Amino acid sequence: MGLIRAVFLDLDETLYDERGSVHQALENAVAFAAERFPQIDRAALAAVYLEEGNKRWEAFEAEIRVKGKGAQLDPLRVREMCFAQALVCAGGAPSFAPELTRYYGEQRSAHHRLFPEAKKVLEKLRKQCFVALVSNGGSAYQREKLKTTGIDGLFHAIVISEEAGYSKPQKGIFERALHDVGVLACETVMVGDNIEKDILGAKLVGMRGVLLSRSSDKPKFMNGQPRPDAVIESLNDLAKTLTLFAGKRT
Ligand SMILES: [Mg+2]
Repeated sequence: MGLIRAVFLDLDETLYDERGSVHQALENAVAFAAERFPQIDRAALAAVYLEEGNKRWEAFEAEIRVKGKGAQLDPLRVREMCFAQALVCAGGAPSFAPELTRYYGEQRSAHHRLFPEAKKVLEKLRKQCFVALVSNGGSAYQREKLKTTGIDGLFHAIVISEEAGYSKPQKGIFERALHDVGVLACETVMVGDNIEKDILGAKLVGMRGVLLSRSSDKPKFMNGQPRPDAVIESLNDLAKTLTLFAGKRT
């Protein structure tokens, strides 16, 4: 593959259908809560849970950027606090949060799923070049997703922000993956769905960045944001893009 010796991939919303998996598990959890509290505002329960969860996980990634491996988060406790808050807002009782958290955890585990093309693309890719995972998130949850979906053995390196002590777009997380795989930034491509975390981060270390934009709407780039070297709508288009890179001197 010419100049490209390694491809790094993001996990959530790139290989793993995070939104789909959360949606399914949360729908079931909301139904479970409604058995206990028939009058509960189902929409509010789901919305507040998601909002609180996003806030807390983003805060955790920000803490990693400051404290490195000193950042600490108990993922089960986070879920429980989010559900407690959501239950209050939706007209339930916060004391139900531990039970709901347990049920939701079972539902998440039962509904892990990749995007349909992800595993095949990975299997093919790793025959052609080095493949690494570069993911923000808690170690336990990200590793559970990899294992349950059967892709944990397909990477030459797995770098997760909580374990690395760096969080995308920080350079350190990409440098760790480059070091673990043993390749240079200039011969590596980062693939991800987030312009800020995946593309900006890749550019900071001198890697090429491919933006995965699954919606048919063209991605919008703000002033001053880095431009990806290519935009693809599906992982199936990645091989073609890599061939183009290999033929081009940059
Ligand atoms: Mg992502």
